[in-house]
Amino acid sequence: MIYYSTINRQNKASLEQAVTKGLAPDGGLYMPEALPLFPKAFLRNISAMTLPELAYAVVSFALKGDVPADVLHDIVFDAFDFDIPLVKTSGGRYVLELFHGPTMAFKDVGTRFMARLLNYYRSCHPEWRDLNVLVPTSGDTGSAVANSFWQMPGVKVYVLFPRGAVGRIQKSQFATLGGNVTAIEVNGSFDDCKSLVEEAFMDTELNDSMRLTSAMSINYARIIPQMVYYFWAYAQLMRQQVDVSNLVFAVPCSNLGNLASGLMAWSMGLPVKRFVSVENQNNIFYNYVMTGEFKPKPTQYSIAPALDAGCPNNFGRIVEILGDHENVCRHIHAYSYDDNQIIDTIMHTYDDEGYLLDPHSAVAYRALNEDLQPGEIGVALATAHPAKLQHMMENIIEEPVPMPDQLTRFMGGELRVKKMSNGFTAFKRLLLSKM
Ligand SMILES: *Cc1c(COP(=O)(O)O)cnc(C)c1O
Repeated sequence: MIYYSTINRQNKASLEQAVTKGLAPDGGLYMPEALPLFPKAFLRNISAMTLPELAYAVVSFALKGDVPADVLHDIVFDAFDFDIPLVKTSGGRYVLELFHGPTMAFKDVGTRFMARLLNYYRSCHPEWRDLNVLVPTSGDTGSAVANSFWQMPGVKVYVLFPRGAVGRIQKSQFATLGGNVTAIEVNGSFDDCKSLVEEAFMDTELNDSMRLTSAMSINYARIIPQMVYYFWAYAQLMRQQVDVSNLVFAVPCSNLGNLASGLMAWSMGLPVKRFVSVENQNNIFYNYVMTGEFKPKPTQYSIAPALDAGCPNNFGRIVEILGDHENVCRHIHAYSYDDNQIIDTIMHTYDDEGYLLDPHSAVAYRALNEDLQPGEIGVALATAHPAKLQHMMENIIEEPVPMPDQLTRFMGGELRVKKMSNGFTAFKRLLLSKM
């Protein structure tokens, strides 16, 4: 398959080039030239498959032979070796729990898939120097990326996080690893961390001396495996003999990567009636849907930190898939909630339905309840485990929220953090000193 840049269609790349670069040289996002359409029979068969089997079927179909079958099989089975349960709440909604991976947030799948695919490309090129993976984070991305690449030979990971803005549990998930993972505390905001990384990608001297890669969701490798979530929800509903003819997905959105994956699954033939995009007060996409204007703003901090994005990276992919604003509005209903509404949803869902939602999942659940019409089946994507923000959750529901072993194992470790100003010179010097 050929991939093109959303800025200029003439700029093309192979999957390997798209994945090892991340962003196209013109600043665009890579998209496949033609998405294949799943045969109808495929949808009838998927309810009998296990999660890794279904994941392999979807991903290999979408990549059309770009990666050798046996290699791809191993990558996918490795990336999907945990459960993704579909839970029905007493309120009659479905929740797809995407948070049972190593760092207990939904980014585990995308980053593990990406890490293993990059590792394969590395193995094809013994002449390559080290890959340097740069990732700005408000918490979840950094931990998922760091854990996915940890101890991978020939790869160095740099996680940049804003001082004072990342919780202790999240921080310990990437800052205690050491080895090939360097955690950098930036004296600045999340937007500063993002700018430092963007500047690094534009810096000729750096790029001439080292191989830099982005592990953000601009990387197509993170978009591909997330399509599986939507097929998996569909397959599970079919298995439970639920009528799937009016299926609605509610997606908590930040950089819009997960939503882009859902739209791709739909455009490849998964019958989805509509998507519901849900943001917190960083409501850039919501405003776009309402007004037709895309206006990035400075990032505001909220109690759903993984949704704090003032300039959603994957916006270009959404428009590319749906064509124009009118069509976006036809297929996506947009919502946005502030912290009080999020807290209210967590409390009420817990009290009335006995189901504990984390702040990110709560926005999706709330929007689903507002948006769903009679006769429709709604699935909210739950993207993080409630214990990841344990302290805040305990304050909200005034009860202990037990911490799973998977999260406590990081807590005992020693934090190894490099402190840095928000100036680019310091960052550049650090990168060059690590070569
Ligand atoms: C990253 C993240 C999101 C948002 O996903 P995007 O693909 O960036 O829109 C939602 N919830 C959690 C917990 C996340 O970590």
